[in-house]
This record gives sequence, structure tokens and C-alpha cells, in this order.
Amino acid sequence: MLNEKVAKILNSIADYLEMEDDFFRVKAYRQAAHTVEVLTTDIETIHQEGKLIKLPGIGQHIAGKIEEIIEKGTADFYEKLKEKYPVNFEELRGVEGLGPKTIKLLYQELGIKNLDDLEREAKRHHIRRLKGMGDKKEKALLENIVFARKFRSRNLLGEVMPLAEKIKKRIEALPQSRKVEIVGSIRRRKETVGDIDVLVTTPQPQDIMDYFVSMDLVGEIIVQGPSKSTVRLKDGIECDIRVFDEEVFGAALMYFTGSKEMNVEMRKISISRGMKLSEYGLFKKEKRVAGKKEEDIFHALEMDYIPPELRENRGEVEAAQKGELPLLLKVEDIKGDLHLHSNWSDGKNTLEEMVLGAIFKGYEYVAITEHTGSLKIANGLGEEKLMQQAREIDRLNDELENITILKGAEVNIDLDGRLDIRDEVLQEMDVVVAAVHSGLNQGYFDLTRRIVTAMENENVDILAHPTGRKLQKRKESEVNLNQIFDVAQETGTLLEVNSNPVRLDLRDMNVKRALEHGCKLVVNTDAHSQNQLNNIQLGVGTARRGWAQKKDVVNTLPLKGFLKALKD
Ligand SMILES: [Zn+2]
Ligand SMILES: [Zn+2]
Repeated sequence: MLNEKVAKILNSIADYLEMEDDFFRVKAYRQAAHTVEVLTTDIETIHQEGKLIKLPGIGQHIAGKIEEIIEKGTADFYEKLKEKYPVNFEELRGVEGLGPKTIKLLYQELGIKNLDDLEREAKRHHIRRLKGMGDKKEKALLENIVFARKFRSRNLLGEVMPLAEKIKKRIEALPQSRKVEIVGSIRRRKETVGDIDVLVTTPQPQDIMDYFVSMDLVGEIIVQGPSKSTVRLKDGIECDIRVFDEEVFGAALMYFTGSKEMNVEMRKISISRGMKLSEYGLFKKEKRVAGKKEEDIFHALEMDYIPPELRENRGEVEAAQKGELPLLLKVEDIKGDLHLHSNWSDGKNTLEEMVLGAIFKGYEYVAITEHTGSLKIANGLGEEKLMQQAREIDRLNDELENITILKGAEVNIDLDGRLDIRDEVLQEMDVVVAAVHSGLNQGYFDLTRRIVTAMENENVDILAHPTGRKLQKRKESEVNLNQIFDVAQETGTLLEVNSNPVRLDLRDMNVKRALEHGCKLVVNTDAHSQNQLNNIQLGVGTARRGWAQKKDVVNTLPLKGFLKALKD
């Protein structure tokens, strides 16, 4: 999708302009980048309709740049800035303490372009001589380089959330603590997160701080204070804890949950009503009118409560003012998981163990969908093995009372859009999941054609991990998502929100687009072990970020209704 690329280039331009102290234009480009980031329509379509300048914050000048990017893949202005400052911005920005101004200084004075250059110059003590640097800063930089290398990117939500929950539980268990909440992007269920932020109310802050910094998970104490402490966990992730009064806890929750963009909007609304909003409450003159609960603040501003997952300034503020927020899908709504692997293919647990895991989650039904023939690395099953497994499932269904096991398979879509299991066999299955596992770089037209062909097969019920992305490893494949969404809607193929922490595919904004095309969804775990069945909360979080409601998600239906919602 071009939107992401356009937004990225606009943001990079803003970075360069920041080096040039051109703050007026920095603001304009950042605003434009945000507008493009949250679009649910293809920017190309908007361009073709000549409506670029109708978008908020996009004037004639920036519209021209966007046009260039759409047509040539880049903008001359951007290329010139890159030439002027040939530095690896992304890499250097990953080092704590390095902003655009310092990066400019380092480049102009010492020719530093990347992490390696930076390390070399710091070790030669060339950096301390620069204006405004000194030996302390040089030493700190050297330490921070190590971390930038190790944790070059943000952390996956699915990796950090269990850790955050563990910390929350431990603090909750202390007799001195009252309320404990994880805030920040974890609470918003963003797919990658920076650090862990915890808020607490307590009559004895000192005890909580003492406990917090002495947890066995802590690698290093960065700051220990009376109401705020920061540590680096042994995993390398930073964790902050802050104590607030019960009376202002809601305001603090809202403030530290973010997003920054939504907080800005909320402050604007407060001001327009003659009030002031901060982490200490909503104030009229000196008087606090709300602050104890988040709900109170929203209501005092005459808007509905906005669930954390929607707080991205993507239209939720307006919707909350009009009383038009969606009633979001909940984890408890999910009645069955339709994408599971056992050790018949590349899963870790036995078929029976996977089913028991599903019973434990309270599901009404579950589908076993092993990899098939052509996926050799995943120990794919041939037709005979699939039929053998079907008989095993019949036996288990007779034995178990609290769940229905559906027969399925995760078939591969080959380079021409054909499946690696014959239709006669697929007809015997309850649920067929189809996926692209190879040739993802085939190219826009061929790959789109291939997926469309598979969806047109009347045996294919679900398109799994539709864009093939892997966070921090592989970008979304280049496909025509509009066409895929249209064909999914026409053929009644369900689109998967895959809950694997690395995939989360469809991602939030694509969920929203798919729903706007009238598509129906399923949220699956693609679990390869019993434990991974718990990932469902990540998929549901992603669907919520994409504004999905219960009615949009077919595996919220009871078994009968679910089977009816599948193709014949
Ligand atoms: Zn797969
Ligand atoms: Zn799978």
C-alpha cells in the first residue's frame, strides 16, 4: 500500500527540515504524514480524483510532493535533502540522546553517517570536543549505542504484554497498592511498543517504589524517586512506575495512555469549553470538575467513553462527540478458534492437547487446520494423511462432550492460484483456510491474481494472514488490497485477523478498510502450541483497533450460525 510509503517519506522530510531549523514546515509535514497514515482509502485513488488538497493539513505544496511520490516513487525535494545529509537517520535516531540537531552537528563536524561511525568517533574521544557535547555525553552515547544495536526496533506487543501483566499482578498483590494499570501503547494494543508504563494508587508510595526497584526482573535502576521510578528490566525493556492520587487517577490514566495525538485533541476540546485538561484532571478555573475516572472526563466534555484501542486520533474523537462509536468486539465474544496446528504438522502439542486447550478457553468449537502437502518445511500433510486425521477427529468428537472439532486444513495457494489439495478432498472438510506461504515477492499483479483465484474457489472459507507481513522481518506483500477486499466480499470469503504476535495480519488499518468494503472477518490464533491459544487477545486487540464489532466477526456466532456463514 502506497499510503505507508508516502507517510514515511513525509516524515523523513520533516526530520531533515528539523535539522535545518525550519520548524514551520516541520509541523506541516508531520501533520500531513499523520493525515496519510490514518487514511482508510488508497492515496492513489484520492490523487486520481484530484482530491489531495481536500485532505486535512494538506495544501498545494505538500499535495505536489505526494503527487510526485505516487508517480515517481520519490520527490525531488526529498532526494535533495538526502544528498545534503547522507546519514542513516533511522539508525542514528535509535540512539537515545540523538535528535536531528545533534545528528546534523555530528555529520557536519565529523562526517558521522551511521552507528559504526558514531562508535568509532566516540571511542577516539572526538565527540566530547564538539560544542555542547562534553565527556559525559560522549560516555552516555557509547553506552546508548550498545542498546540501540540490541534493541534497534520497538518490541513486539506479544512479547512485552506478558511481562507487563506479570509486573501488574505482582504490584496488585502488595497490600499497600490499590489500583494498578498498565498504560501507554500496551493499553492501546499497538502492535509494537516502546517501554512499559505502570500507574498506581497507594497510601504508601515509598513501599511500592522499594518493591518495584528490587523485583528480580530488574536489571538496572535508572531513577528511584518518591512518586516515580524507572528501571531497565533484564530483558532490556525500560519500565516506569508512577504514583497518583485516587482523585486524579482517571486523568493520569488518560494522559499516559495517549496517544499523544488524541491527547492534543482532547486538550483542544477542553479549551473550547473554557476548561483545562492535564494528567491531574479536568479543570474549570481552579476547580477540578473530573479526574477520578476516565469516564467522568469524557462525560464532562459531553462525549462517549473512547476505548483505549481507538485512541489514535483517527476519527474516534468526532465519533464520540456524536455518540457514534462502534460497540467493539470483546475477547469473550469469540466462540471458536479456526486456525490451529498440532504435531501432525509443525505444531508442538498433540491434537488432543490442542483441543483440550480450546475447551479450557471455553470455546464451543475449534478447527484443526494443519499445513498441507507442498509445505515441506512445515511437515505438510498429504491427502491420505488428512483423511486419516479426519477419522481421528471423528473419534475425539464421539469422546468429548463440551466442544465440536471441525475438520480443516491450511492449504497452500501455489504460484498460479491453485491449491495443493484436490477439491474432492476439500469438499469433505468443514473449514478450509487458504494461505500464501511462498513466492510473496511475485509482484503486484500476479500475487493479487493468485489470491483472487484462490478466493474464487468455493471450497476456500478463510484467507489466512492476507498480506503475509512479519513484523520487523517482512513488509506487507505488494497486492491490490482493494480488489482482494472486493472479491472477499463478493465470494463470501472470510478474512483472517491472525493473532500471531509477529503477524497481526490483517493489521488495524486494514481491518478498518476491509470492513468498509463490507467484508466479514474471523479472528484466529494460528496456534502452534497450546499456550499460543492465549494470543487470541492480541488478534482481538488488533480487530478493535480496526473498529471491528461483534457482528463483523463470524467466529462470535454459535456453531450453527457459524457453519451457515461459511460458503456451501
Ligand atoms: Zn500460514
Ligand atoms: Zn497456520
